[in-house]
Amino acid sequence: MGLLDGKTALVFGVANDHSIAWGIARALNDAGATVGFSSVESLIEKRVRPLAASIGADFVEPCDVQSDDQIRDVMAKWRARHGELDVLVHALAFARREDLDGDFIDTSRDGFSLAMDVSAYSLVALAREARSLMHPGSSILTLSYYGAEKVVAHYNVMGVAKAALEASVRYLAADLGPDGIRVNAISAGPIRTLAAAGISGFKKLYGSFAEVAPLRANITPEDVGGTALWLCSDLASAVTGEVVYVDGGFNVM
Ligand code: NAD
Repeated sequence: MGLLDGKTALVFGVANDHSIAWGIARALNDAGATVGFSSVESLIEKRVRPLAASIGADFVEPCDVQSDDQIRDVMAKWRARHGELDVLVHALAFARREDLDGDFIDTSRDGFSLAMDVSAYSLVALAREARSLMHPGSSILTLSYYGAEKVVAHYNVMGVAKAALEASVRYLAADLGPDGIRVNAISAGPIRTLAAAGISGFKKLYGSFAEVAPLRANITPEDVGGTALWLCSDLASAVTGEVVYVDGGFNVM
């Protein structure tokens, strides 16, 4: 018996097999969930569909989370296929490269709102559209980082967006709690992904992480997948509005 036997999960944010979203999708699939995927159109045929096929998944739909119409469209297709949704995973973010370099004070108005829209507001938009598909026991999960809480060199506007994302988790948890829907975030330690490659100095941060983290190891998408599975299963039935660190204890140092 898998922890998620008979459950469905819709995962946003797979770019390739290094993506945290992919680590989470595999963990949910291994636990018995029927998993579907949504990613930006340009990644669908080359990257996402083959990965989905490798775990027997055939719900693969494009969505730019900056578009309410596209979000509505994906959820309508999910409703037509499955009728309801047990798990929604939001594992995506974006900021312009020039805003992840240099000083935070130089962030442009445009760059600031773009990072906030894609990386924080999209959780609110997805949750609102998914709400009518969800039921008591359903849960929503997003991904954050330590730079939401403390200043991390070069994380800049993404740190501000993650702070907004973590606050949104709490407000959404309050809104959706009475419906029995839980909302949580995992704050993951650095993992080598496409998005991480866009952050100046990531290599250095990644390289020294294991020297500082109490568990003396880097974090893998599998580490995140395990905690995601717990948070999205009934084992976490009384956990909502939380940001759970999956960072080998780095944040306590
Ligand atoms: P990734 O590059 O594999 O995934 C990022 C995804 O965001 C991509 O699939 C990309 O297509 C998607 N995306 C960007 N703009 C989008 C848009 N407008 N509409 C829809 N999708 C869009 O990188 P990742 O590291 O797996 O990132 C997943 C999440 O994990 C992000 O929220 C990231 O901030 C967070 N995170 C990453 C790390 C790390 O070190 N890699 C640590 C903590 C948190």
